Amino acid sequence: MRKALFLDRDGVINIEKDYLYKIEDFEFIDGIFELCRHYKELEYLIFVVTNQSGIARGFYTEEDFDKLSNWMCKEFLKHDIKIEKVYHCPHHPDFSAQCSCRKPKPGMLLNAKGEFDLDMNNSIIVGDKERDIEAGLNAGLSETYLYDELRSVKSSKATNIVNKLEDIYSANIK
Ligand SMILES: [Mg+2]
Ligand SMILES: [Zn+2]
Repeated sequence: MRKALFLDRDGVINIEKDYLYKIEDFEFIDGIFELCRHYKELEYLIFVVTNQSGIARGFYTEEDFDKLSNWMCKEFLKHDIKIEKVYHCPHHPDFSAQCSCRKPKPGMLLNAKGEFDLDMNNSIIVGDKERDIEAGLNAGLSETYLYDELRSVKSSKATNIVNKLEDIYSANIK
């Protein structure tokens, strides 16, 4: 069984902008490539798990999302990092049917577990919202990181709250 690094996208890989879907609006967050390289060297498989309710809301299409994902994965490859698979939830309960994939539900992580035979208990998630952490916990992860750049979070179920992605891979955890 392989271990996994699950990454939320908006607010972890790229700077959060509402309903982002254009390549020109996508800005990588400092430390994301180094974080991935660190876990790659430890033989983790890397996955993206992202809520994309902008699709249910009609702000952009599946095709727009795929185009951006393909570009993003190629940028990672330029840094010698393979994103194993990008999972997304296109739903929102107000705009589409209920689903089992929208975080905090664990559906995307459990799909990855099934497809890649992952060791969930030794896998990791990094998110910028509590629902990312909850999705990880709901999927059986024991190591969860909340990236809180603005130091605005008072409490979290996460194993650690970090203000820089670097703090995760440099083990600079309080
Ligand atoms: Mg996010
Ligand atoms: Zn969904």
